[in-house]
Amino acid sequence: MSRILSCPRCQQHALLRSHPQSPREHLASFLFVAPFRCPSCSHRFLASRLWLDHSTHPIDRREHLRIPVRLYLSFSGGKVRGEGTVLDLSMGGCIIKSETQVHANDIFYLRLSLDDTESPLEVAGMVHSISARGIAFKFLRAAQENKRLLAFVQAQTPDQPDKSSGKVGVAA
Ligand SMILES: [Zn+2]
Repeated sequence: MSRILSCPRCQQHALLRSHPQSPREHLASFLFVAPFRCPSCSHRFLASRLWLDHSTHPIDRREHLRIPVRLYLSFSGGKVRGEGTVLDLSMGGCIIKSETQVHANDIFYLRLSLDDTESPLEVAGMVHSISARGIAFKFLRAAQENKRLLAFVQAQTPDQPDKSSGKVGVAA
């Protein structure tokens, strides 16, 4: 018989198992305790992975996937409009360079030009932090489940099986 975990915060069942990150989580992994992440509310917690149903709790492959990019973006929220360049993108958010003045916790609609042919990807994001590196946006929940964003992030991932097959790494 297998167990199915639910999120302690929102009771959601579709939890993803994460890779251990902190020393505490690495230590816990020796005791068959693994970190889990709730895709609904982003709550992260430790739980025993013994007897778990692995098809219900697949490994979270998107978690650390931050890809360096250079994409044009425009954004708007309230009376503020701006544009900039996306430097780093993941399913959780992005870092942009922009001259526009924003403040932490501001929410914007971001329009990312993923390619020339399709219409821009529209996602909602909140300003997480502002530093010399740029403005870090955290995507709101709907964006984290956006199929087009996921497809884009996965297509840029270097360890895709179809792209890392040995010597054919150099593009013609
Ligand atoms: Zn949750």
